[in-house]
Amino acid sequence: MLLPLIAASLSVAQGQAVRLEVPHEPGIEAVSVAWGEHRIPFVRRGDAWHAAIGVDLDTAPGEHTAPITVRFEDGTTAERSETLAVERVAFPTTELTVEPRYVELSPEDQARADRESREIAAIYATLTPEAYWSEPFVVPIPGTTGGRNFGHRRVFNGQPRAPHSGADLRAATGTPIRASNRGRVVLAKELFFSGNAVFVDHGLGVYSVYLHLSEIGVEPGDIVERGDVIGLAGATGRVTGPHLHWGARVLDARVDPFSLLELVPEGE
Ligand SMILES: [Zn+2]
Repeated sequence: MLLPLIAASLSVAQGQAVRLEVPHEPGIEAVSVAWGEHRIPFVRRGDAWHAAIGVDLDTAPGEHTAPITVRFEDGTTAERSETLAVERVAFPTTELTVEPRYVELSPEDQARADRESREIAAIYATLTPEAYWSEPFVVPIPGTTGGRNFGHRRVFNGQPRAPHSGADLRAATGTPIRASNRGRVVLAKELFFSGNAVFVDHGLGVYSVYLHLSEIGVEPGDIVERGDVIGLAGATGRVTGPHLHWGARVLDARVDPFSLLELVPEGE
């Protein structure tokens, strides 16, 4: 019979990617978890099954249930639940001044921004049912530990806008930007707000994005290895100066990209 989950109840802050694990037992053929609108598959690595789910930064604090289904080779299934205790985070508010055209959009820019936002939503709605990666995620500028402004509520030129869905890393224009992990490039082009942007699908619903680049070095469809240079830092799009915006999603959940670093423990 099934062993208990490694953690029966997980305490999770708003805006975190969370790793789920189910020990392998003989006869288990597949494991999946229902989370939000999706059923997310686990992948087997050695003697355990792993999956990632995202707790969006606006998820209501309190207990949330993640029902897990284990399917056996003989056709039977077993159900159980992981409980996530979501803790509220007091995200600070940041006031920023940018070019007025990024706050009061022309009809053409508004139409473009709307079109791009639909294109991006379609990317995040896509669940690639395999993991392209097996090693831990890394920060795209090696050695960087700063840039902890994920989730900040933002006011541009005096007007409230969507919360910050990534972490801004200090970077001079031209700094090489590296893929956080192995994956497939699903978008590589200039966007209205994001400037030159690269989106990488790591599989199992995990995405990383790299925005405001001065140069893009990859094309859609490319498989990038962890640490490959995918472009150069810059100041394109809605910015106050050169930096790297590093973002992460687990499907439609906006999560702190630094939480990706915990998805695969070092040495596994
Ligand atoms: Zn940013």
